[in-house]
Amino acid sequence: MTRKADPFYQHNDKGEIVQYAVCPDCNNPIQIIGLYTKLKNTDHPYGKHCTRSIRDIADYNAQAFEYCSLANPNRSLNKDMKRKSKGEKGEQIISIIRNYFDQIAFIFSKFTGIYMSRGLAVRMLKKYKSSEGYLYFGANSMNVPWIFAYMANNHSLFGQKIVDDTLRELIKKNCQNIYFEGEWIRTKKYTDIEFWFTKHRQTMTPENGLSESMELKLTYNGKTFFSKKIDFDHDYFQNLMNYSDDCRTRKKELTDKAKEFFPAAD
Ligand SMILES: [Zn+2]
Repeated sequence: MTRKADPFYQHNDKGEIVQYAVCPDCNNPIQIIGLYTKLKNTDHPYGKHCTRSIRDIADYNAQAFEYCSLANPNRSLNKDMKRKSKGEKGEQIISIIRNYFDQIAFIFSKFTGIYMSRGLAVRMLKKYKSSEGYLYFGANSMNVPWIFAYMANNHSLFGQKIVDDTLRELIKKNCQNIYFEGEWIRTKKYTDIEFWFTKHRQTMTPENGLSESMELKLTYNGKTFFSKKIDFDHDYFQNLMNYSDDCRTRKKELTDKAKEFFPAAD
């Protein structure tokens, strides 16, 4: 892809040819280590963040580096850890929400088994915006669908549609006052059924990539009856975005809703 050409291949200070790229999270320049020479500590090449600007590749941004998930994997995270300002990263995340919110909703339904109705989408957008989820330390442009849900926090499942058969059976078994009309949750008398997310974790894989997960919890009248670990699939989301123009599942009403909450800056 680089055709072994400048600016991806450049001479370093010692006059050696080295390979450069851009970090997909913080947009800082990175040097590819171990592409041609075998490394002692790993079989896999990896990207090492450069702490200076690299000509025609990228300018170094110290603040972006500090918050980069790929530069700081394995750190412990909690929802209250927020960056001070939106910055380039926050803008990038918001622009993904604005342009691909229907794909985010689609992935949400896939990983939770809960259909994101228009009503639920609006409630989640509202909470995400008020909690300033795009400022969360663990948010990056690769994990938007998952961290959107994570930072949108808990919501009632009353009147929602459960598209996953196993989850529907589990709810029937654990929640006495709930029944289903087709796939839709109905209740006989007032009950409290909610979903929420916890334990977002970022770790380095043996291949020097970033691996992320979180837990989905379901609560009935204040008691958790279901818990599931969700592994983030960055590539799946990336592919959905890349091919979204010829994708028949695009839903304009959902992206329009997201644009109401996050209007484009002029
Ligand atoms: Zn980075």
